[in-house]
Order: sequence, then C-alpha cells, then structure tokens
Amino acid sequence: MKRSDVDRSLLSPMMAQYMEIKDEYENELIFYRLGDFYELFFEDALVASRELELTLTGRVAGLGEKVPMCGVPHHAVKSYIEKLVNKGYRVAIVEQLEDPRLTKGMVKRGVVDVFSKGTIADSDLLNAKESSCIAGILIFQDVIILSILDISTGHLLSLTIPNNLEKLCNELVNYNVKEVVIKSDTNASFIEPLKNNFGIEITYNDIMLEGKYEKLIEGVKDARVKTGIMHLFYYLDHRQLKDLSYIDKIEFINRTNYLEMDIHTIRNLELVETIRLKERTYSLLWLLDKCKTAMGSRKLKSWILSPLKSKNDIEKRYDKIAKLNNEFILKDELKEALFEVYDIERLAGKTVNGGLNPRDLLQLKKSLSVLPKIVEICAKLGFNYELKTHTEIYDLLEASINEEAPITTKEGGIIKPGYSVELDEIKSIRSGGKDFIANFEAEIKKQTGIKNLKVGYNKVFGYYIEVSKGQKDQVKDEYKWERRQTLANCERYISPELKEKESLILNAEEKINNLEYDLFIEIKNEIKKHILDIRATADILSELDCILSLAICSEEYNLVRPKLNEEGIVNVKDGRHPVVEVVNKKEYVPNDCILEKGIDTLLITGPNMSGKSTYMRQLAIMSIMAQMGSFVPAKEANLPIFDKIFTRIGASDDLVSGESTFMVEMKEARNAICNASSKSLILFDELGRGTATYDGISLAQGILEYISTNIHATTLFSTHYHELTFLENKYKNIKNVHVSAIEEGDSITFLHKVKDGAIDKSYGIHVARLAGMPDELLNRASEILSSYEAKNSKDSREKEVQLAMDFSPKNDEDENLKEKIKKLDILNMSPLDALNFLYEVKNNLKK
Ligand code: ADP
Ligand code: MG
Repeated sequence: MKRSDVDRSLLSPMMAQYMEIKDEYENELIFYRLGDFYELFFEDALVASRELELTLTGRVAGLGEKVPMCGVPHHAVKSYIEKLVNKGYRVAIVEQLEDPRLTKGMVKRGVVDVFSKGTIADSDLLNAKESSCIAGILIFQDVIILSILDISTGHLLSLTIPNNLEKLCNELVNYNVKEVVIKSDTNASFIEPLKNNFGIEITYNDIMLEGKYEKLIEGVKDARVKTGIMHLFYYLDHRQLKDLSYIDKIEFINRTNYLEMDIHTIRNLELVETIRLKERTYSLLWLLDKCKTAMGSRKLKSWILSPLKSKNDIEKRYDKIAKLNNEFILKDELKEALFEVYDIERLAGKTVNGGLNPRDLLQLKKSLSVLPKIVEICAKLGFNYELKTHTEIYDLLEASINEEAPITTKEGGIIKPGYSVELDEIKSIRSGGKDFIANFEAEIKKQTGIKNLKVGYNKVFGYYIEVSKGQKDQVKDEYKWERRQTLANCERYISPELKEKESLILNAEEKINNLEYDLFIEIKNEIKKHILDIRATADILSELDCILSLAICSEEYNLVRPKLNEEGIVNVKDGRHPVVEVVNKKEYVPNDCILEKGIDTLLITGPNMSGKSTYMRQLAIMSIMAQMGSFVPAKEANLPIFDKIFTRIGASDDLVSGESTFMVEMKEARNAICNASSKSLILFDELGRGTATYDGISLAQGILEYISTNIHATTLFSTHYHELTFLENKYKNIKNVHVSAIEEGDSITFLHKVKDGAIDKSYGIHVARLAGMPDELLNRASEILSSYEAKNSKDSREKEVQLAMDFSPKNDEDENLKEKIKKLDILNMSPLDALNFLYEVKNNLKK
C-alpha cells in the first residue's frame, strides 16, 4: 500500500498526524516514536526492512488493509541510524513534544532531529580519529566559496579557492567532507565527480538563512563568504534542526600559507592511507600517530595534510619537541596525564547536538581532573599555552554525577546524594518505604503467626502478601485482607495498609527519575554555557598531544631536527623512508640526497626494483615531515621550505574515470609543469612509460628540459631510459645519480645505494630472471639484446633514432604484428597471457 493512495479521511488520528509530518519530510525516513519503539510506515517501512533486515509487519490505521510497518527498539536506535545514513539515506526522528501525563487526547509529535551523512554529531557514531564535515559550496565566476563545518565540534572554516574542480576535490577530501550543500542550478559536471568518485552526499538548497546567528558573520568583509555561511546554515538550521549557537568563530584558511599538495600527491605518498588497500595502516599518519587522545589524532592528520611554510612556526614546533626530549620525566608525566583525557572536543559538541549521557559527563570530569597537572607541566616546560583548568565545571560534576551513572537519562541513578535536597527527600521516602515493607513483613508474621508468610511485588498486583496453601486457614477475616490471586501452592492477598504505602513508594520512584532527569538537563545546560572555553582547552590539549606524539616518534624512529634554508639547497645525509624502514623486514639502506646550489634536478637511473621510487618518495616525505614540524629520518638534514609538491608516481587509479593511464600521466605532469615554481618539489617517476619507447623518451626529455630551463623546481626524475643521462652534459643544473646493483653472471643483487653518475644498463632481463621466467625465453631475450647493443654500440642519439627506423614496417606481416601489439592492453594482461602472446609471435616468426 502506497502512502499516496491512502484516503486520509479514514485514518486514525495517530496516523493522520504521521502523514502531516511525513509531508514535510518527503526525502527522509521517518522514525516515529511509539512507546519503546521507533516505527516506520508505508514506503519507509519497505526500505528500512530491506536495508536493516527487519521483519515487516502491519498496523491497523483505520483503513481496510494494514499499513506496512517495521520498527527498532529505542535504546538501539543509534546503530540503525548509522547503517541507514552510511547507505546514503536521511533519517528524521519524531518524538512526543508534550508530556502525555499532562495532555488530554493526542499527544503532539514532531521532528526533533535529522541525520544525514554530513550532520551526524554524536561521537558514538563517528570514527574517533577522523573529523567529519559538511560543506556549503557557492560557485562564482572566478572563485568557489567553501564553508566547511564539523558539526561534532563546531569547528567552522571558510575557504576561498579558485573556480577549479580539482582544487575543490582536494579540499573536500582533505577535510573528510561527507555531504555538500549546493545550489540546484549547479552544473552537473561539477557534481557528478563528487558523488561518483568520492561518495559525497549532495544536498540542494537555494535559500539563505536570515535574521539569525548574525553576530558570527558581523565582521566578515566578503559578502560572498557571508552568503556562503548563511546558505549552509539555512539547511542545518531549518531542515536539520541543528542548534548552531555554539559556533563562535570562523577560521579563514588561506591555502597559500600551507605547503600545497593535490590529491594525487597525498595518495601517491601514502600520507594518510595506502594506495592499494586504502587503509590507515602503513601510511605516514599511522606511523606518526602516537597520540593519546582522539582529538590529537584528528589534529595530527590535519598537520600532515597542511604542512606549514612559515619558518618561524615550524621552528616553534621543533623547539617544543626538543624540549620534551630533553625533559624526559616531564614527557612521561604529560603522557600519563593526556592518557586520562577523553574526546572533550566532541563531548562539548554533544551538549548541543547529540545525545549527551551521564557517562559522558563522567568522562568530561575525568578529563578536567588532570588539567591542573597539565598546566603545571606546561609551566615547567616553558610552553606558554593559556590553558584553563575549568574548576567550576569540575566541582559541579564532582558534586552532582554519580560515579556509577548509567548511559540512560530517564531511569535515575544519575545524581549523587547531597546534591539536591528535594531529591534526597524523595529518596528517603522511597527507602523508608522499602524498610517499611521489610518491617511490615516481620510484624504481620509475628501478629498472625504464619511462619512462611512473605511480602512480594509484581507488576500486575503491586505489593502483596503471600501465604502458602497449607497455612491459608490461618488468615482471619479481621485482618481485612483481600484475596487477589490463587496459585498452585499459595494465595496472594493485599491489605489497605500495604496499598497505602505502596502508592507512596511507587510515586517516589517515578518522581525520582523525573527529577534526576531534570537535574541532568540543568547540569548539561550549565556546561553548554562553557562550551567555547572547553573547546579552546580541547584545542590546546590536542596540539600538545601532537607535539608529544612527534617527540615520541623522534626517539622511537631515530629522527633528527632538520635545518631549514632559503637557498633551495637539499642536503640530506643518510636519509631513510620512515615507513619502508619500519615495515620492511630487510635492513634499510640509508641514502644521501644532495642538490647543491646550482643543481636542481637529479636524474635517477637504475634497474627495476633497485629503489628509485623509494628514494624519491623518501625526500618528499622527509620534506612534509619537516614542514609539519616533525623531526626527520636522517643523520643530518638541511632542507628548503617548499611551496608545493607535485608527484607523478606509478599507475594512478581511475580518479577521473574513462581516461587511459597515459592520459592521466600526462595530465598530472601538465599540472606540475604549469603550477610549479622554483620553490616547488617535483617527483617524476619513470615518466613516459605509458607510451611507445620513442614517444616516451622524447616526452621525458622535453619535460626535463622544460623544467630545467623554465621552472628550476627541485626535481627528482627517475627513468629507465638511460639514453637521457647525456642531458647532464647539456644542462649544468641536471645531475645524474644511479642506484647501484651488482651483476654476477646472470644474477643481480640490489644494493639500494644511490651513487653519483649514470648507469648504462637496465638489467631488465636480470629482473625477469628473478621473477622466474623460463630460461629458454630469457636466453633468447639476451640474444636479441646483444644484437641491439651491437647495432647501437656508439652512444649517440642519432643511432637511437636509427633503431626506431629498424622497427618500421617492412611488409604486411610486420604491419599485422604491429597492429596486434598496439591493441595489447598490457596493464590488464596476466604474465601468462604475455608469455602466450610472445610464444605466438615467435611461432609466427619461425614460419
Ligand atoms: P624501483 O622504483 O627502482 O623499481 P622501488 O623503489 O620500488 O624500486 O624499490 C623496490 C623494493 O626495494 C622496495 O619494495 C623496497 O622494499 C626495497 N628498497 C628500496 N629502497 C631500499 C633501501 N634504501 N633499503 C632497503 N630496501 C629498499
Ligand atoms: Mg619504481
């Protein structure tokens, strides 16, 4: 039965009320609170029963047929919401808005909260180590105005970026934006990639909020930024019913203050997740995250993704790490203190949007309890943070919240004795009542002489007196007991005295629960007043946690404090790739990386598997670590402060779908060439590999020459075309290095050691042998290679071209073969397919 087909005049009042609410929230699944359950009806019920594997039932609602219905218990609702939202649904929660005890007739119900991908604020539903944001996007002719909000913490950012899809994606990925609010006339070509490539939820809205939160945007100069924020806020305030009053400031992010990296670079360097498995494990973040708090882990991620450019700011972080390393006792104390700190950033947020519970308050109290200690440690270390101790809130929580408080808010057990006179009074009635019951039992036992008489309680009859069958004759009329229930071996009675006390006791129970709930809300509201201060404290604690984490890493991984220079000099002695070093079982071979003044490009040659890619990544990762304020994996390091890092490493996965690897490769290279400055770092790893040899060589050479003459960026260029190494003679800013290998007969040993000069061999056949290719094939390949080498003995480029001519078609059969080879999809071929193909070619040649 569809909702639209229903004759509304027939509906029961409750269902009619449902329909009105649903009309307002067409796109949300309505969770309708009825008793201890949230129920879904009509199409919503069909969707939820399928997605959540719930039993579909029906509800009588005045119509001939039952209305489809399914439900979830209220105490478990969070996990169901989470599942649905992750699948891309929106959920609206409908609760009673009035106290049913005080209302006659239908209780008013309404939507109290709405959840979608970007607006989950409850820390129980969020990944503790990831921030989770919603972004408002306004597109203008030349710029995009981005307003990014982490609703769980109230952190609001504003960015003005060039009108460029790629740059937009960079930001959205960096801030882990789950949902964007965008105008409905936005071009689909902008929206499709967000949805399809990054799984971002798209929400359309064309209305700006007016007359609210004006203090927040008062001082903003750019009218477009104001509009952007109010555009996002309309959706949050109006559709999602979020309270935004706890947002006190806008942080304006100016990208030019940070080292710029695009998504490819972040992925290629595996800064926050690995390329293949897309997991945090084995990423740089994984390596460096020794944070004690989830807030610290989130901040550390932002440090990795936004390394600094200000030498002063970077050195400040180094100074603090160095200080901590010197003061190891204070460092241990800080570690212990931070260990006690919970995610107070999100706990504070939870007081506004999200179900704060009594246990959260205990966590907050525990976190605040160590603040005096942390203030003391900071003072001893000479760290001048303005860290508050929040004694007021601590005292309030210490006085009020029971140490064993439950996670529920409506079932009592929250408030400590001594906090509220009224509460204590009712409690004494209750316990007095319980004593009464015990006394009453003893008394009437004595009075009546019935030895095994008991006073019990059940939900149906309340308190009762129970007498066994054998002794029931001893119950006399004068007692004025009234028989209520006859069981197999006993009788149950009530007495007027017992009933009188009972009503007192039962009322007390309910009163206590209500009063405890009210007191809890009062305390929560008190904390809400301090939310901005708590957030400031959270910010300082997370920064301390990051510094501590980097200090721990510097000892654990043997890192050194780098020197920073303005001359574009790179001077790294015994550098290491920190992740490969830790993860690989083999001993890591440290390498120098030196680009003196006047040299800006290293042309790196060496056999496959020798360590070229690792060597290049090593410098990039070291630079990122240096600029995020961390010590670096080397014996000694002097590094420039880079403005941007570009990488072209390995086969890119299909970020932009439908383009060949070579196209992606060329686009990434173009991006680097067009945007790099002399202060940038470029890593080009085997550029041109995706096309025919002579195309590849020519493009690689063209690109190298262009960078060396026009850009002068610090460039690491690895290539297996050793033909390119002659460029060292032509350009004085290009230098050859190679990764050495030892050849002994047919076998090869990789030393992973980078040395000056070029290598003149690729050792491809050796590597093929290591990979276990059949001997016959390898021997034949060696023969072919020798004949090429003979033809090509003089190392001039003209000869190379001649070689290319040798490949040119001579007859139909060659032309055929060429066509076949052209059509090969090498990237998608298994080694076996390749061998079979080679076999076929050879057979044809034999003919
Ligand atoms: P290439 O790019 O030259 O083909 P890679 O950089 O991919 O080589 O390295 C191949 C393997 O060699 C890596 O998986 C790594 O484990 C190992 N390796 C690279 N550099 C070193 C090093 N300096 N010390 C130890 N092992 C290394
Ligand atoms: Mg490589």
